[in-house]
Amino acid sequence: MRKPFKSVFKKSIIISTLLASALLLGACENKQPVYNSNFLAFGTVMKITLVGIPREKAEKVSALLESDFEKMHEMWHAWQPSPVSRVNVLIANNEAFASPPSLLPLLTRSIQLSEKSDHLFNPAIGHLIDLWGFQNSKALQRKPPADDEIMRLLKANPRMSDIIVDGFHIRSNNSQVRLDFGAIGKGYGVELAIKRLQELDVKNAIVNAGGDIGSIGSRDGHPWRIAVRSPSGQGLVALIHASGKESIFTSGNYERNFVWEGETFHHIIDPRTGKPAKGTASVTVIHPDATTADAAATALFVAGPTKWHETAIKMGIKHVMMIDTDGTIHMNPAMAARTDLQGSKHEVKISKAL
Ligand code: AMP
Ligand code: MG
Repeated sequence: MRKPFKSVFKKSIIISTLLASALLLGACENKQPVYNSNFLAFGTVMKITLVGIPREKAEKVSALLESDFEKMHEMWHAWQPSPVSRVNVLIANNEAFASPPSLLPLLTRSIQLSEKSDHLFNPAIGHLIDLWGFQNSKALQRKPPADDEIMRLLKANPRMSDIIVDGFHIRSNNSQVRLDFGAIGKGYGVELAIKRLQELDVKNAIVNAGGDIGSIGSRDGHPWRIAVRSPSGQGLVALIHASGKESIFTSGNYERNFVWEGETFHHIIDPRTGKPAKGTASVTVIHPDATTADAAATALFVAGPTKWHETAIKMGIKHVMMIDTDGTIHMNPAMAARTDLQGSKHEVKISKAL
């Protein structure tokens, strides 16, 4: 379902997508050729922007990325038959088995990032995600799970550190570990896509995965400007400048949720309570590596307004914007320097440096 089209950029023209949680803005008039394409992957609209390469090559590069993303999605999907779902069956036996090689790098990165986040980013809580029904985004109204079911899973305390990786073999010390890479898979995919672009000698590009962005280079020598959507759903909250190899990822409570008896339950679960994390509306993180950015956005969302700063330090994150559920924007000074806030309705708190 790829739809290549050539776009003519005017000053500040906005490329928007219905499904995107952020927008990408071009800077100044365009001197180099720009090629845009979009396709579906990871359950979202992927938009590829390639600057300064001939159309014929751009079409080939885009087709390659589309096929890469399709394979990645098939490999890492936890909720349909895939290498991950097969591993989830085997892992429950507490015995060592040979892992699909395609899974090992993602697994290893997930273990490291989970430990750095003090397990706030915890892709081992697949059973909790399943219990809440967030593997299935369709039902808008449903009853939240009973407290005793949540408690049963909390007591089992599944963590990525329960998984032992020994060469190609993996084993879990905890039969309640169930992998769900929903909070990191897209980031890892964007990182691989950026590497692929670099191998193909593409120097200036954006990979926009439904509003989560991986960028390289610049836009005719100007920084890319990435728009972050307001968690309230009304317009933009900020424009963030990006140049060189950088990724900008956002976790938001608006992305997937349901309502029950007037209360909204969103999809980012606090592994300490087994319930949707409280206090955060969205977190945006910039990091050179998209995998880290994705995992960190989820971890800092869970950490919430009081703990995001210390969690960012533990994870080595230097740029954070967190919007709490009262609408206050928290940023570290380096993030504030990279951000043009849009509108003035938010109170802004600048934290200590990271
Ligand atoms: P993201 O939008 O990157 O924050 O990822 C959210 C998705 O990750 C959810 O839909 C779940 O599949 C999964 N998830 C929810 N809570 C957590 C958590 N604390 N750690 C890791 N994955 C999570
Ligand atoms: Mg994430």
